[in-house]
Amino acid sequence: MKPKPTHRSALVIGAGIAGIQAAIDLADAGVRVVLVERGDLVGGRMAQTDKTFPTLDCSSCTLTPRTVEVGSHPRIRLLTRAEVTALDVDSGGYRVQVRVRPRYVDPEACVSCGACAEVCRMKGRVSRRFDLALAKGSAIDLPYPQAVPSSYAVDPHSCLYLTRGKCGENPRCVEACEAGAIHLDQTEHTEVLEVGAVVVATGYDLYPPEHPEWGRPELGFEHYPQVISNLQFERLCSASGPTQGELRIGDMEPKRVAFLQCVGSRDQATGAAYCSRVCCMVSLKQAILVLEKRPGAQVTVLYMDMRAFGKGYEEFMERAQRLGVTLRRGNPAEVYRKGGALAVRFEDTLLGRAQELEADLVVLACGMRPPEPTAELARVLGLTLAEDGFFRGSDPRDPVLTGESGVFLAGTAAGPMDIPDAVASGSAAASAALARLLGRGAEP
Ligand SMILES: Cc1cc2nc3c(=O)[nH]c(=O)nc-3n(C[C@H](O)[C@H](O)[C@H](O)COP(=O)(O)OP(=O)(O)OC[C@H]3O[C@@H](n4cnc5c(N)ncnc54)[C@H](O)[C@@H]3O)c2cc1C
Ligand code: SF4
Ligand code: SF4
Repeated sequence: MKPKPTHRSALVIGAGIAGIQAAIDLADAGVRVVLVERGDLVGGRMAQTDKTFPTLDCSSCTLTPRTVEVGSHPRIRLLTRAEVTALDVDSGGYRVQVRVRPRYVDPEACVSCGACAEVCRMKGRVSRRFDLALAKGSAIDLPYPQAVPSSYAVDPHSCLYLTRGKCGENPRCVEACEAGAIHLDQTEHTEVLEVGAVVVATGYDLYPPEHPEWGRPELGFEHYPQVISNLQFERLCSASGPTQGELRIGDMEPKRVAFLQCVGSRDQATGAAYCSRVCCMVSLKQAILVLEKRPGAQVTVLYMDMRAFGKGYEEFMERAQRLGVTLRRGNPAEVYRKGGALAVRFEDTLLGRAQELEADLVVLACGMRPPEPTAELARVLGLTLAEDGFFRGSDPRDPVLTGESGVFLAGTAAGPMDIPDAVASGSAAASAALARLLGRGAEP
């Protein structure tokens, strides 16, 4: 057993649902927590989803109480646009360097009135990242109304002042902000933290079907606007999304929807032999949502084999079928234009024959990938990666352990999992970190 760390606080890296859970559990136990998030807000992918399987609960109704708690907890300090750049073992635990990029807006002063975005010279010209390019906004933006921190932030890649050094005579956003919250002269800075335990909860990225090396161009993503990813589908369904929850692409209201499973999963050619675990259930959920929004629609899921592994998931699949969702065992080969709509050519793997399915909308069930800088973060933290590119746990019986006595894994940083499992592993990592801070608990 290593000596008990003398630094009494903890670092949580990544503010998705797993990191949020770990931070709240630790803070409630009396530990001071610094929560480092590289994006503009907390909530991770769950903040982008509309409803959750298998209960079809509203995602933000479950998430918002936790994001608000993280934003207001007296023992949690949240750093956004922040990334860990160095971690050194010292006598009290760890000395950590965190690079904090500017938001150009003071979150304490911003009242989220939106006046800045209204007058921004880039209004209507900037792809909204939170909406996965399905909508355009301004160079100063708030991802969604309940975002925590409840503060606008400037996109340094599209803001005229930050990219060209000039925005008209004067930046209009600064003039419009009565709260005086916008500071376009902010610069990056580095914070040094001393912590006794670290929870890594950096989550996942979505498989990019347009990737030049291991993408699937034959499925028409980014070629046909009617081919979208499963996460884009979530944004379309969301009341705070680009269509205020209406299922449509432009003026087209789909009546035939095809879900293509295992796009970027269980397929070595796309760089991932593993199953992403959640996409079968995600597509069943989304298929039910199509029928809720458009009763009588023709909804087909083309699957390799349906994996309904969790509590209530098998019943959820049966419910989808009862509601009229057609499940066909099929391997999609190509999406192409047919008449005014699209068609999917696929191999029916039960009949052993090529078939065609016409659709107005094709949803790709994109799998989970480790976020882009995972290898770099592993190097910084001294951790190793598994074959799938996610962080490697050191003990299959206790998946939060890493082999480094004060560093623990939570959520999908360790590999694909659904929200209940991510929350459970956030709590498990927090209790392992707490035991470490108290000088107790299992050694890796
Ligand atoms: C389309 C879709 C729909 C889904 N629907 C459901 C559902 O209905 N029910 C369900 O149970 N599951 C669902 N899931 C799965 C769910 O999204 C995940 O289980 C959950 O988001 C995992 O949470 P997490 O905290 O592990 O990761 P994430 O949500 O990915 O959060 C990780 C956070 O870490 C941050 N981060 C990443 N790298 C760094 C870094 N280096 N430094 C600092 N911060 C970093 C990210 O910005 C992010 O905020 C769905 C998944 C998809 C793709
Ligand atoms: S105008 Fe100022 S206070 Fe209002 S949203 Fe913009 S930055 Fe925040
Ligand atoms: S400086 Fe100009 S472009 Fe940048 S956010 Fe303000 S108004 Fe928009």
